[in-house]
Amino acid sequence: MKFSIETLVRENIKKLKPYSSARDEFCGEAEIFLDANENSFGSPLPQNYNRYPDPMQWRVKKCLSERYNVKPSEIFIGNGSDEAIDLAFRIFCEPGMDCAIICPPTYGMYEVSAQINNVQVKKIRLREDFSLDVEAIKSAFDRNTKLLFLCSPNNPTGNSFPTEQIVDLVASFIGIVVLDEAYIHFSRQKSLVEEIRNFPNLIVLQTFSKAWGLAGLRVGLAFANEEIINLYNKVKPPYNLSKVSQDLVLQALQNQGKVQEMIERILSERERLSKMLQDFDFVEKVFPSDANFLLVKVKDADLTYRFLLDERIVVRNRSKVELCEGCLRITVGTESENQALLQALRRFEALVL
Ligand SMILES: *Cc1c(COP(=O)(O)O)cnc(C)c1O
Repeated sequence: MKFSIETLVRENIKKLKPYSSARDEFCGEAEIFLDANENSFGSPLPQNYNRYPDPMQWRVKKCLSERYNVKPSEIFIGNGSDEAIDLAFRIFCEPGMDCAIICPPTYGMYEVSAQINNVQVKKIRLREDFSLDVEAIKSAFDRNTKLLFLCSPNNPTGNSFPTEQIVDLVASFIGIVVLDEAYIHFSRQKSLVEEIRNFPNLIVLQTFSKAWGLAGLRVGLAFANEEIINLYNKVKPPYNLSKVSQDLVLQALQNQGKVQEMIERILSERERLSKMLQDFDFVEKVFPSDANFLLVKVKDADLTYRFLLDERIVVRNRSKVELCEGCLRITVGTESENQALLQALRRFEALVL
């Protein structure tokens, strides 16, 4: 069967006449704006936040389009990538009927978002070595399977999937592949954003929450061909990205050097931390990581976790997650945070010996 977006989109979304905001209907030059029921007198803040923001975020998209070498019309900007994930379900999955494939252990929001939307998930587990079971995924494809979520580098395992495998899955799936590249800046592998040109069924997600250091702003990106982005624009809340976020993201995009510098420090700390952790007796394995965290298998995860909490250090206990039994997920911190972590773990080692 050949890919066709028409057969994938829900009927109600195809028929939907989107909300038309005041700023959608008028976009020329004017002096007096009495069209949106804003407060023309101003606000209690010194900045100009009394006006609604650009619903389409064109300035930010123009800037992003140069950086990513795609068209502004091929970008959706969301209130975090979580918004882009949720909208994918709402556009493509008929509740109670369609389903999505996820490959656990992976990011928890895919399943939560599916459940919120009453969409069934088919779970095709990763293999023991955290690789994709490509054949099993392909066998799970059918007409009602609308979405396939791939997270590369994957959270919480930290590994990337080979580009050829991802491309093979995109090429052989008649539904939409959502490739989550939240951790791509820390990876040895290249982003597949530009592949949206070759594949009409590919959505690539990135976020400002990780490498960019802007988790507090809530800004996520979806890249796809215009047809898919038009659907996103149709269903998104009209002013989904605040003016504060738009202004600050634009400002951040002017300072990419700082981001590159931070990424290099995180990568060098990741390698140092990984080596140091391997020397502990209670550490059974430090998995290779393409992300800004390390998955670490220890002898007693709950005990280690609680000890660290008592030391006022919080890591993520993933020991109840399938294939991650006995594992903690540790975010790479600053040099001094990592030093404090290692010192605490030395005390732990002395204690449990
Ligand atoms: C952290 C993370 C995100 C980011 O979500 P935001 O809503 O953009 O903060 C997305 N995907 C994965 C796999 C993550 O780990």
